Amino acid sequence: MECYNQQLPECSAGLPNLAALGGGMVYDSTITSGDTATKPGWAQIFSGYNAEVLGIYSNGDYQPIPEGYTVFEKLENNFGDENIVTMFISGKSIHTGAACVGDSTYENGQPVTEDQGQPWCLTKDHLDYYENDLRQNLVVGNRALELLETHQNDLFFASFIFRVPDVIGHIGGENSSQYTQAIVGDDIWLGNIVDKLVELGIDDRTLIYVTTDHGFDEDGNTHGNAPYTFLVTNDPLVVREGDRKDIAPTILERYGISLGPLGNAPAVDGFSLYSFPAFECVPEGQAFIDYEGAPACCSGLSLISLDRAFNRNLFTYATGGTGDNSGYCTACGDGICTEPENFLNCSADCN
Ligand SMILES: [Zn+2]
Repeated sequence: MECYNQQLPECSAGLPNLAALGGGMVYDSTITSGDTATKPGWAQIFSGYNAEVLGIYSNGDYQPIPEGYTVFEKLENNFGDENIVTMFISGKSIHTGAACVGDSTYENGQPVTEDQGQPWCLTKDHLDYYENDLRQNLVVGNRALELLETHQNDLFFASFIFRVPDVIGHIGGENSSQYTQAIVGDDIWLGNIVDKLVELGIDDRTLIYVTTDHGFDEDGNTHGNAPYTFLVTNDPLVVREGDRKDIAPTILERYGISLGPLGNAPAVDGFSLYSFPAFECVPEGQAFIDYEGAPACCSGLSLISLDRAFNRNLFTYATGGTGDNSGYCTACGDGICTEPENFLNCSADCN
């Protein structure tokens, strides 16, 4: 936001392509289920389920996304394989990986045999394009432009994941000039993609959603608990801020696909951003998302911050999110659950 708001020397022009896409509107997208990390992040963004439903909690505790749970598969099933092109093009490596149990992969640069099953193990076979570990923005970006050109006359749903700001943030830190420059670099690629759509004459019928799987710890070089992220879109039907798990339901609704059970997949956990949630108040154990018009905690419950919920082993403060009171509705008062992983059943475990 500092960069977007032209508060940094590297961003004297802000992030012009992002600002143009959203017409100056930036929505909060807050993380309330699953770690603020890559494996749980993209799995949730493209499915709309809680971490417990996906079985993907963190970069170290995960399994394949169950078959049929992703937006990609629901689109393929809805329109028929021949009638829609789905693409998952990622600069990330193992955390958007598709190695199944027993497959060769690597860890810290060393070859290992996968023992849990990476998130995209089952989904990859249902995609028209699954390309991972492209690394540099130039490679991801040029592949995006090429695929858009190839499929300019097709109905498509494409995701292009740019990895570079995260890498630079881990090296130089969140307040480094390099991190800011890397974010500007992503904005330039957004501009290149929009320019390509204009050149192809399909910009007026292509919806774009720009988001991220997690934030970054303020002044840190990790994202241990960085739940405050953003969504910028040219989709005019989006009316509110929301949760990381609300993006998939929004896309499903846009394509006219049910948010309820489909095949072996249960109803999604998130809510479409096209309307305000139908419930009057937030029940115990659920997240309150702080935006204008959001339902508050039900009576008798109190609101606790996002400080403690994600990392299942450690108490971790949430960083960033200035002025954002998002949190969880609990019967525990201000007490802290003795076992963070039992958070959703906290009332049995208050102290
Ligand atoms: Zn990272």
